[in-house]
Amino acid sequence: MASGDIVFIDGDNRARFPDSHCLFVDDELPAVIDPATKRDELEGLHREKGIGIVVNSHYHIDHTRYDSLFNGAELLASAVDAPAIEDLDELARATGVDDAPWFDIWKSTVRERWNWTERHVALRVEDRDELCLGMNTLRFIHAPGHTAGHMCVHFVEKGAVFLADIELGSFGPWYANRGSDVDAFLDSIEKLKALEADTWYTSHGKGVLQGDIRDRLDAFAGVIYERDERLLEFLSRPRTREEIVSEALIYRRRWEPPQLFELFEWNMASKHLARLERLGLAARDGDRWLRT
Ligand SMILES: [Zn+2]
Repeated sequence: MASGDIVFIDGDNRARFPDSHCLFVDDELPAVIDPATKRDELEGLHREKGIGIVVNSHYHIDHTRYDSLFNGAELLASAVDAPAIEDLDELARATGVDDAPWFDIWKSTVRERWNWTERHVALRVEDRDELCLGMNTLRFIHAPGHTAGHMCVHFVEKGAVFLADIELGSFGPWYANRGSDVDAFLDSIEKLKALEADTWYTSHGKGVLQGDIRDRLDAFAGVIYERDERLLEFLSRPRTREEIVSEALIYRRRWEPPQLFELFEWNMASKHLARLERLGLAARDGDRWLRT
């Protein structure tokens, strides 16, 4: 007998990549959201409850890597991110690694280390589409920025929201993929502030928050403005891409492997540069950027 409860599954590895927190919805149509941790527990749930729906908030491996455990279930994702869940070349394009010299290594790592397999997204949703599981209606909220199709899930009857990678941690927003967008991220945060809810789930970090979280959402958005400031300060002299990346203004430290660090650091910094140019605060001159 289904309870209708939303069950929070605390991510292993302190919910860090390749893990994240997961939700199980014990409903007439049992569902999991972002199954990427505690493989044994997820397999047990599927044996016991017969999971019918698997929801992916977006295409990242730390949200999708156990999708294929749920044979017989239908996979649901945003129409925008679905191709990158289904196809490894699409995942590479969305991530922005398809033209990297180490593309083949990346591809085999994703297959072998993260057990990536092809899968079919049977249900593709748009902003505010709904799915009724029985006692719970899931409303999908398109909240792009982290990825182009990133979505949150609003549990309409319970007044709860799964925020996915709008994770409210001290690092701040992450937008290092090709389709990521820093301004869209800020708009998504504003959109979430308007939702009626008192329980909030995040994929990483704390995991469950109660009450009014608008201050926390503002603080999370504030990290974007701090990054703008750090970059502007560094652009007091003309700076090249190499100089900007080597400062690690976004990540604040280098990490391994260097190729991926440099790509993600640049992807994030370059989105700030485009934003600062648009705001008239910085300008590009040849291969250098300068504060105006
Ligand atoms: Zn993510």
